[in-house]
Amino acid sequence: MLLTPGPTDVPEFIRYSMAKQTIHHRTKEFKDIFQDTREMLLKLLGTKSCVILASSGTGAMEATVTNFCFKKALTINSGKFGERWGKICQATNKDFVELKYEWNTPTNTKDILEAIKSNKDIDAVFLQVCESAGGLRQPVEQIAKAIKDSNKDIIVVADAITAVGVEHINTKDIDVLIAGSQKALMLPPGLSVVGLNEKAIEKIGQKPTGYYFNLFAEFKKQEQNTTAYTAPTTLIIGLNEVLKKFETIGLDNLYKDTKKRAEASREALKAIGLTIYPKTPADAMTTIKTDKAEKIRELLKSKFDVNIAGGQDHLKGNIFRINHMGLIEPYQASWVLNSIEKSLEILGIRKFNGEANRVFMEVYFA
Ligand SMILES: *Cc1c(COP(=O)(O)O)cnc(C)c1O
Repeated sequence: MLLTPGPTDVPEFIRYSMAKQTIHHRTKEFKDIFQDTREMLLKLLGTKSCVILASSGTGAMEATVTNFCFKKALTINSGKFGERWGKICQATNKDFVELKYEWNTPTNTKDILEAIKSNKDIDAVFLQVCESAGGLRQPVEQIAKAIKDSNKDIIVVADAITAVGVEHINTKDIDVLIAGSQKALMLPPGLSVVGLNEKAIEKIGQKPTGYYFNLFAEFKKQEQNTTAYTAPTTLIIGLNEVLKKFETIGLDNLYKDTKKRAEASREALKAIGLTIYPKTPADAMTTIKTDKAEKIRELLKSKFDVNIAGGQDHLKGNIFRINHMGLIEPYQASWVLNSIEKSLEILGIRKFNGEANRVFMEVYFA
């Protein structure tokens, strides 16, 4: 059972949809699929327009740095992915200011406003909606509003790779919203999405930048339901299937179910004495802080056939992360919690009495 917060499990109906013969990307047949996919995708993103890129999520991150920052970037580093903005700025010779936080701590809006005030040349702010390194939900809507209230020309770029398809994101003050295929979209890796609102569209048109990651060139093509270069046809066909499924379920129901699963899992793990790591947990995953993380992960893998994620850098060996993204049945979530409780018994930490599962069922089916 693959329950890492990316890559997530690719359900069978999606795998089958991608198993058909290759179609040419310049045919009417593909154009129709592209158009249909794009229309559903815009509803999911809640943005005016979007471009689909053939790259992993980091490609979309780099594209937003090169296409939206011409003077100085403000980057928010609350973990591995937030740190990546700074690395991209360095690699692409962009001036940047970084605000750094412990990985369990949400960004303070006041710090952002101060940084903007003392660096008048900041023209783009980069942050995560959910920082996957610690499972932290950033108050991104509130931050975006504060930035826009102070200077509406600053472009707000939100990496929502572990938030799109998980929860409703209010994009009123967010100019750019990034998504990726291998998280809540339940696809294999290789496709990223850059959602664009008016201000972002205006900015890419002012100074088209780059060659492959030229968002304006892609925007113009994709508004015509085609791509500048060869489209990742197979992944787009898979995405079409995913989005159709989301429409059948209903986005509100999808979000509600994910939230319920996340809440019930958190309560269950707390009930068996474990500690939630982030101060403001995202619903994409549950992160537990424990120095037994590696022992628990090993037992889960060897005895219970469950693959969950550990931590990186200073959190290596100190946390584990369970995925809630995608279409996960309650019995699957329940199996993982049971396995963790059983592992605690094997490690001599706590006698097994089914408490985790009991609490999960009680909260989930309340
Ligand atoms: C997975 C992820 C990415 C993208 O990583 P890739 O490996 O390049 O797909 C970016 N940001 C966040 C928050 C992520 O979880």
